[in-house]
Amino acid sequence: MRGLMQEHGLMISALIEFAALYHGDTEIVSRRVEGDFHRTSYAEVRERARRVARAIEFLGADAGERVGTLAWNGYRHLELYYGVSGSGRVLHTVNPRLHPDQIAWIINHAGDRIFAFETSFAPIIQAIAAKCPQVREWIALCDADAVPAGLRDVIPGVHSYEALVAAHAAIDVWPLFDENLASSMCYTSGTTGHPKAVVYSHRSTVLHAYAAALPDALNLSARDSVLPVVPMFHVNAWGLPYSAALVGAKLVLPGPALDGASLFALMDAEDVTSAAGVPTIWLGLLGAMREQARAPRALARVIIGGAAAPASMIAEFQDRWGVEVRHAWGMTELSPLGTVCTLKNKHLAVSPQARMAVQVKQGRPLFGVEVRVVDAQGMDLPWDGRSMGDLLVRGPWIASDYFQSGQPSPLQDGWFPTGDVVTIDPDGFVQIMDRSKDVIKSGGEWISSIEIENIAMGHPGVAMAACIAMPDPKWDERPLLVVVRKPGADVGEDDIKRFFVDKVAKWWIPDAVRFVDAIPMGATGKMLKNRLRERVLDQQP
Ligand code: ADP
Repeated sequence: MRGLMQEHGLMISALIEFAALYHGDTEIVSRRVEGDFHRTSYAEVRERARRVARAIEFLGADAGERVGTLAWNGYRHLELYYGVSGSGRVLHTVNPRLHPDQIAWIINHAGDRIFAFETSFAPIIQAIAAKCPQVREWIALCDADAVPAGLRDVIPGVHSYEALVAAHAAIDVWPLFDENLASSMCYTSGTTGHPKAVVYSHRSTVLHAYAAALPDALNLSARDSVLPVVPMFHVNAWGLPYSAALVGAKLVLPGPALDGASLFALMDAEDVTSAAGVPTIWLGLLGAMREQARAPRALARVIIGGAAAPASMIAEFQDRWGVEVRHAWGMTELSPLGTVCTLKNKHLAVSPQARMAVQVKQGRPLFGVEVRVVDAQGMDLPWDGRSMGDLLVRGPWIASDYFQSGQPSPLQDGWFPTGDVVTIDPDGFVQIMDRSKDVIKSGGEWISSIEIENIAMGHPGVAMAACIAMPDPKWDERPLLVVVRKPGADVGEDDIKRFFVDKVAKWWIPDAVRFVDAIPMGATGKMLKNRLRERVLDQQP
């Protein structure tokens, strides 16, 4: 027997329609590459997104056609999010931090034929335009008179976004189609081989937006002012452009200014209540908070994900500045949210140390994400908070395959192997112990590089730490800790090693500590351990 409910597909266009209808005057504030601030509203974003839909139709975009973007977090990018996906085309966000050759490869692989870019990225576009012959239309995200002069020499027909938006009337209604059709795509950073393309659908995006907004997830409401520091060019800024519209939250978009002082000032000016980003971003903000001797005035919550949040960072936000931390885990293939760490009632009464032991975990799966931890044979391991194994996931916003990868689907019996090594505790809290390629295999046992780094980050003289495996004739691998000292800190190898005593089993203590000026970081704010390994291990005596 079928249910007798109306069968409305889940459409991304419905999010911006809802926001415009019920939160039409709620602001979207953007720092622009032009250097100034720009203020718009959900009502205006809807109007201009509908014009974008007409403009790309005029440029010949077919249904399902990819429209690429190379852009910061800003209102024009938001309009493209809704105008492109809402009208049945596929928004393909590209990470400008990648090498230009890789950007060109990604654009070609995705088959982008229309491509919109921020003028600050004009040098990249100039360098790659000739390598992307299938792109027919290039759109500079600026006023008609602000298209960079040199660009016209390379791409004579380059459009101005503002001229296009001004020239086209809004479409009357958004098209309705199968909710399982593609809405957007994002390439994983691909530390090995070519990047792989994850293709989101309208259904997966709307369901993810619902789940992410829940109180025990990102806890978003119409009273929030939300600052996604996470880029709209990678995994849809963790879905915040969608979740914010779904609840009618104010959006504050930081453009290219992601340093601590700029973020602090923006948060203060726009009464930001909630912000999301990777740990390195928060190191910067915490620096600014120490300088100002206060937190941004309305900041209630930060969401930390993309890499492990060290206990020292969580403690400083919460205990010193009264800002709640929500530790989250996800990946491109998960849209990206998989787990968020929020306490249960029973944790409220425990000691601060016991509570921190929960908060350094990446948290409980959202409804919609099922998890398993398995051993090398694929057998389920117990949820005891100790047994380390590979994390498998499945659910309606988790990738089933990559776009034209030439490989079979990565799924194993319907489960997506995350490549993360985890423990799961009896309450279902997942703790990411490592990437499977980074875990240190010492004498047949595993050492979590993340846990070693987390402890090292608690040392007052340590600014950043990375733990990597070094080959060892007896144990196969042993941990080597690479440390960036805090400015002026006089900390040596023995101090660091001593710091581990009583914090981990003896055999987990790094055999050696190396000091470096900086740790190489990837395009999505993660430590590039393979590069670090090459750099540091090559210097071995
Ligand atoms: P990529 O583009 O490299 O695939 P993603 O942004 O998809 O990057 O990153 C996914 C990976 O990042 C996860 O598989 C996990 O290893 C790591 N990660 C994400 N969040 C956390 C976290 N809170 N703690 C530890 N690792 C994390």
